[in-house]
This record gives sequence, structure tokens and C-alpha cells, in this order.
Amino acid sequence: MINVTSPYLPDIEKLYSYIQSIYDSGYLTNNGPLVHRLEERLKAYLGVKHVILTANGTMALDIAYTALHLKGEVITTPFTFVATTNSLVHAGLKPIYADIDPETFNLDPANIEPLITDRTTAIVPVHVFGNACDVESIETIAKKHNLKIIYDAAHAFGVRYGENSILNFGDISILSFHATKMFHTIEGGAIVTNDDTLAKEIRIIKNFGIDCPDTIKTVGINGKMNEFSAAMGLCVLDDIDIIIQRRKKIHDTYKQKLEGFVEFQSQNPKATQNYSYFPILLKNEREMFLVQKSLEEKGIICRRYFHPSLDTIPYMDSAIEMNISRDIAKRILCLPIYPSLDLEDVERIIELTKKVLHARID
Ligand SMILES: *Cc1c(COP(=O)(O)O)cnc(C)c1O
Repeated sequence: MINVTSPYLPDIEKLYSYIQSIYDSGYLTNNGPLVHRLEERLKAYLGVKHVILTANGTMALDIAYTALHLKGEVITTPFTFVATTNSLVHAGLKPIYADIDPETFNLDPANIEPLITDRTTAIVPVHVFGNACDVESIETIAKKHNLKIIYDAAHAFGVRYGENSILNFGDISILSFHATKMFHTIEGGAIVTNDDTLAKEIRIIKNFGIDCPDTIKTVGINGKMNEFSAAMGLCVLDDIDIIIQRRKKIHDTYKQKLEGFVEFQSQNPKATQNYSYFPILLKNEREMFLVQKSLEEKGIICRRYFHPSLDTIPYMDSAIEMNISRDIAKRILCLPIYPSLDLEDVERIIELTKKVLHARID
């Protein structure tokens, strides 16, 4: 069976040696030596000032909102994994959806400004499938209205915007290191910021609000990453170039051979790609189901990332229908992409997809 993704498993001997070091130190969690080492290596690799590791990406979002003292309404995208919306609801904030751009699938900056009220405190855009948002336009709007920006960069590991890491935009960016993401720590996440004061505050919040022993400064949470997760991260990071290379090869094969048969997400020309997903857009929902089913019959699992559009979920009462997001959500399908996927299987997926589409044309 071929799944839409498969977690990267690094050399087990290397992982053993890190686990041996955990046994030797007896340090299992609480900002241990491996967490510290992974933070340092990620700072260097990503080219950012502060990396604060967390238990997962959802926790990273939650801590970011707490650290920025957000209240009221937050403008965000309906076309993303549900964790983006849920983290806002959990934090007592009201997500206000702005529709996406039909080409990039990212929050369309033109739709943000009309939704700003005196209750709006922040914008939470997502670099969906690793495609960099129009960060300059979003920044201009945020500055004009004195709003914070938290980028959900769960898909954007390693993406660069011009000479800079994409993670250096906004007040905070968050990453997810879940097993299915391109870089992972089994479960995990990170908060990235350039602001020293904010970084300090975030470290306190993720440690129950405890500043130093016997000093409780604020309402915090247990947001820590453990040493076993950091060990996995250190091993996966060693192989990141191979991971990206293999993904690129699969991506390029799909792109070249499916051109003209399906539509692709248009990429921000100022940014690099990390090949974390391979979404295709079909003509309509029926065609999407035909492709999905015929691949499934051959044991190939594609996923409807991201369906449904979040403005349709039962606990969200969006004031405006997100027509573009709803349309894209119905027609999109993510094809399998992961480092150990054989190119022969990729060719098979391409042929099967084309066969369905030919049948439709005839
Ligand atoms: C995976 C993901 C998250 C949540 O990250 P976890 O580490 O699974 O908590 C948040 N936002 C987006 C867009 C994601 O894809």
C-alpha cells in the first residue's frame, strides 16, 4: 500500500547512540541537552534568531497567542488543517475567515482589510503546502492597523524568501514537527521569533509560567519537547538534504508528466519550495472522486487536503461564505510524496491518474 505520506525513519544505530546518551545523562525532558542542541542546530540551519521547541505545532500556536496577549478577533484562512482554527478557538479568540487566492491557495491580502474591526488584534496566515504567503502585503496591512502577525508555517520548513528565511516574517512563526511533516521529531513543534523579549516570555509560558525556581510569573502551560523527540530530530536533520532531494525528484516527475492534465498550485516566485506536498486541482468534485477511487483500488491513498473548507465546520458560524476556499477544497487532492516512495510507483500513479482523465475526455 502507498500512503499519501510516510514518516522518515533515520539510521537506527545513530538513534540508538543518542538514546544511549539519554540513558547516560538520565535527562529525559525539561529542556535537556538534546533539546538545547536541536534548537542550536535549527537556528543555524533555518537562519533565524530564536527557535523554541515545543511538544507539538498546535501547542506552539497556543503559546504564541498567549505570548502576544491576543484578544477578540483574529483574521485567518479557511483553507488549512483544522488545527489553525482550533488553536484560536481554544485560546478564546474568534477566527474571522478571509477567502483565499484561487491560484496560490493562500490568504488573499485584498480580503483582509474589509474584515478589520476595533476587535481585531491579529492575522494568522498559513503558508499552505509550503507556498510562501504575500508577506509584504500582509505586513503593510498589519502595520497600518497595528495588528500582530503569527504565521502558521507548519508546512514551510526550510523555505526561503529572497535571501531570508520565510520564518523571519511576522511577529512569530510556528512549525510542526509531527511524524508526517517533512522534518519531524515524532511529535513536536517550534516557535520562531526575532524578538528577544518575546522569546524569553515564550520560554516561561511553555514551562508552566515558571520563570526560575520559586517564581511563578504568568499563566503558562506544559509545552515542552522531550529528549527522545529531540534525538529523532537530530537524526532527521542530518539527512535533510537527502529528504529534500528525493522529494524534489518526485515533485518534478509529477509536475512534468501531469502538466496539462490537472492544475497546480502557483508558487510564490520570490520563495523557494520544500516539496512537502503535491496537491493537484481537478475540474470538479466528481473528477476528484474518480481519481481518488481509481488510485485507492490499486492501494494508493491520496488525501483531500484540505477538505472541508473550515467555514463549513459545525462550530464555526462564518458570516461570509468562503466561495473560493469551498471550491478549491472540493476539487483538490494530494498525491503521495515522501522520500522512500519509488519513482516507478510515481510513474504508476501518474499513468493511473491520466487514464481516469482520458476516460473523462473521451
Ligand atoms: C500539522 C499542522 C498543524 C499542527 O501541528 P501538530 O504538530 O500536529 O500539532 C498546524 N497547522 C497546520 C497547517 C498543520 O498542517
